[in-house]
Amino acid sequence: MTASPAGRAPKKAAARAKKSGPGTSGPGPVIKAKFPGRCHCQKPYAAGEKIAKNPHGWGHVECRDAVG
Ligand SMILES: [Zn+2]
Repeated sequence: MTASPAGRAPKKAAARAKKSGPGTSGPGPVIKAKFPGRCHCQKPYAAGEKIAKNPHGWGHVECRDAVG
């Protein structure tokens, strides 16, 4: 007789703590620039402006959206 292992109950995956802000659109977060900087479009952005992270770094939200 072969003892077959009983159906193993899979361990519960770690609780998924996904933050999803309501009303946020776009794939990445949009923050307010703490310091002025330069977008990859060569145009600077001022502190307090809304910037978003794109493949090239932080820059204008519209530039992030424009990036394929
Ligand atoms: Zn830009």
